Formats: sequence, structure tokens, C-alpha cells
Amino acid sequence: MPMLIGSNWVADAHSTFESINPATGQPNFLISAAGEAQVDQAVDAAWRAVRQPAWRDMLPHRRAALLRAIADGMDRNADTLARLQMIENGKVWRECQAQVASASATFRYYAGVCETLNAEVTPSRGNYLSMTQYEPYGVVAAITPWNSPMTMEAQKVAPALAAGNAVILKPSEVTSSPALELGRIALEAGLPPGILNVVTGLGAAAGKRLVEHPGVRMVSFTGGTASGRAIARAAADKLMPVALELGGKSPHIVFGDADQQAAIESVIGGIFEGSGQSCVAGSRLYVQRGIAQAFIEQLVARAAQLKIDLPDADGAQMGPIASFGHRDKIEGMVGTALAEGGEVLLGGRRPDAAALQAGAFYLPTILGGLGRDAHVVREEIFGPVLCVLPFDDEDDLVDQANDSAYGLAAGIWTADYRRAWRVARQLEAGSVWINTYKQLSIATPFGGFKQSGIGREKGLSGLRLYQQSKGIYWGM
Ligand code: NAD
Repeated sequence: MPMLIGSNWVADAHSTFESINPATGQPNFLISAAGEAQVDQAVDAAWRAVRQPAWRDMLPHRRAALLRAIADGMDRNADTLARLQMIENGKVWRECQAQVASASATFRYYAGVCETLNAEVTPSRGNYLSMTQYEPYGVVAAITPWNSPMTMEAQKVAPALAAGNAVILKPSEVTSSPALELGRIALEAGLPPGILNVVTGLGAAAGKRLVEHPGVRMVSFTGGTASGRAIARAAADKLMPVALELGGKSPHIVFGDADQQAAIESVIGGIFEGSGQSCVAGSRLYVQRGIAQAFIEQLVARAAQLKIDLPDADGAQMGPIASFGHRDKIEGMVGTALAEGGEVLLGGRRPDAAALQAGAFYLPTILGGLGRDAHVVREEIFGPVLCVLPFDDEDDLVDQANDSAYGLAAGIWTADYRRAWRVARQLEAGSVWINTYKQLSIATPFGGFKQSGIGREKGLSGLRLYQQSKGIYWGM
């Protein structure tokens, strides 16, 4: 598959790599991998396009119309986009469909923001008019992971375009094809060539060059904390702003007075949806000691009923892990947990079904018997593995839940609204859910505390992320 640079589909790449269907082990596509030359071409194309009056001077309501045309194109091609994501990362079909719908809704949301967000006249202290205007950086890079490519890409590309930038999108090497399809849809919708470029390739080559390129003025990154740290270091050398959405190890908390059936369903969805490959996965379950035994027995029985199957099978609730290498990593981490005294309450191995043997499947897994210092309690697994830990009271809970390098999200189940408020305020997390989990709205800013990231995407501020303010003083 060629990459999109300006109006050209460029196959003449540094090298190529294969995309593999994790449900079957079969190859999908041969993808072009950008080296320095292709990244440099993309940055040149983006600067040429962003300086053209056709884009530079385009009025916000016209930019908004273009974003809506892209959303329409995504809706028309929804099945293609969903299928590309499904065969590359193995998410079940209905989840892929929901994510494409959410991605096109993100373009529509930022179309609305684009034509309604104001500049400001600020209080003057003399005989002048003072204003704050917001201007694009010029050329920005969006670097995305494989777990939810469409939604992550929309979350960056839509506000960056609404803000008036040209974008170079570098999708994950595991899931390159939905981004290429988005590039095609954007051109067809009438976006000027060069305003959205899609450069495919490896993080260590294409991604690294993009971040270090002097022509890239801002980077918006979603991915692992180690890659985020490397990008932040490179950005420090250039004194370039970065937005980092990184990993998590989110606590899902159940107090003794909670609606236990609702909590069980939520805990299961929170960790096993997408085979646990979600940055906000509720991977540490804290249950109040008085109800712990009965709650965990019911949870295990309910999770054992999950239908793990090929992603397009009827009623499939969990597909494969997105790659064979990532499944190896998950297996290794479960092995470490057992060596540290952990007990498998459910799963802990690959499924037996003959139809799943060729894919990278791993059963929903629940581990007990671990303390707060166990590796799997501290480190992100990014797979269908839940660690169960008891707690005594509110103080003990807050102490354990906050004892983590991460701070992306948390969930609280309780019938006591005062306690819900107290605990929500004390948890170190960018999103807190009370009597619900993984509820996300494009209108609400999203991001991490501590090592889960820097900056907030989504919402009105999600557009400002891609702009710099300019004070203008006008003598009267
Ligand atoms: P990753 O960090 O390996 O890769 C993410 C992207 O960065 C890929 O496109 C990759 O090619 C690129 N990349 C890697 N190293 C780079 C470098 N040095 N310079 C520039 N680009 C580089 O992450 P992944 O394995 O694709 O995704 C899983 C991780 O993403 C998990 O840790 C997960 O928690 C995190 N994630 C976070 C959020 C969030 O919003 N906070 C959302 C989804 C995923």
C-alpha cells in the first residue's frame, strides 16, 4: 500500500512491511515504510499546502464544511473503514462499527467548534484595543497507536485541521490501512492536497524522523509511556510543544454498598472489551473486603461466559490480541504474576477451540493473591488481564489506588453519593467514572495525570491544543 504525500500516492518507499490479521495469522497488505526521504517530502508538501491562500485564508465556516464533508465520506465508507480496522487489530465487528461512527462524529463536533469558537477582545489598560487571536502552528504531526486507530486519528486530525494546520499522520505499523483510507476520503471530500498527509512506517524510523524534523512545529502523540518519554526528549531539544496521551493502570473500585450486578457488568466491560487493549482499561479491581469473596465468585462465573471468537463471528464479545508479539508479552507477564505468588481465578492461557488456534487469542484472565508490589499490579499489561485486590476502608482504598505511576482513569461503584464525591476528588486520574465506566464524550477534555500524559484532547480545549495565541494591540 502506498502512502499519501500531497496529492501523490507514493509507493517508492525506504522499505516495506507486512500487516497481519491477528485472528488468522494471514498477511493482509504490504505497506510502504517511510524513511527520512519520504518524511522530508511530506513535511515539504505540508508547508507548501498550508501557505497557500486557499487554505491559509479559508474562513472558519468553510473549513467546517470540509470537516463535515470528510465525516460524510467516512459514513459512506463506514463498512470499509470498520473492516480495515477489524482485520488489522482484531476488534470485534460491532466495536469497529461503533468506533467508525464515533470517529466521523468527532469530525462533525470539530466542524461545530471551528465555526463557533471565538477570539477575544481583552480588557485594555490605556487608549488601545487589545485582542487575543489564535493561530495554527503550521505543520503538526499526529502519531497514533493500534488499539483504536480510527477514534485516535479523528481525535487528532479533526481539531488540528479545524485549527488551520496541515497534518502529517503517522499511524501505528500494526494498523496503517484505516489512516490511508481516511486520507483518500479527505482528498475526495475536497481537502486541498498536502493538508493531510499519511506517512506509514516504523516508530523508530518514520516516527522518530517526524518528531525531530525542524519543519514539524508540534506533535500530538498517543501510545506507550516509553515512546512518549522518547518523544518528549526529542521535543525538548527543539523546544517544541507536545501533547502526550500515554498508558494507564486504572483502578476500578467496588464498595460494599454498590449495586453489585451493575458493577460486575461494568468491571467485565471495563477490562475485557477490546481484549483489554484500551488505555483506560480497568485493570486493577479493588473490592471492599466484606463483599470480596462473593463478588469475585460471581464476577469469575460471569466472565467465564464471555464469547471469545473470530471478530466477525455472530455474537463475538472478545477477539484476538492485536499481534502475536503482543500476546507473547501478555503471556510473559501472566507467567511473572504466577512466579510472584499470583493465583489464576479464570483463564491464564490460550483458548482450546480449533477455529482460534491460528490467531493470537488469549482467554479473559482474572488473577488473585497478588500484593500492591507485584509487577502486574504496577505495570500496564494492555491485555485481558484483571488483578483483584481487596481493601478495608476509604483511606486504605485511596492509598492503594493512588499508589501507581499512572493516572489516566478510575471507576467507583457505591450507593453513597457523599463518598463517591470524596473519593472521586482524591483519586489521581484524568477521568473518574461514578457508577459507570468507560463512558467517553468528545465534548469532555481527556488526558492523564502523572505518567499517563501531558495535555488534554477533546472538548473545546482539544482545538486550542493545535493553536498558539497571539496578542494584538491597536493604538486608538
Ligand atoms: P507505541 O508507543 O509502541 O506506538 C505508538 C505510535 O508511536 C506508533 O505509531 C509507533 O510507530 C510510534 N512510535 C514509537 N516509538 C516512537 C518514537 N521514538 N518516535 C516517534 N514515534 C514513535 O504504542 P502502541 O503499542 O502502538 O500502543 C499501546 C500504548 O498506547 C499503550 O501503552 C496504551 O496505554 C497507549 N494508549 C494510550 C491512550 C491514551 O489516550 N492515553 C490511548 C490508546 C493507547
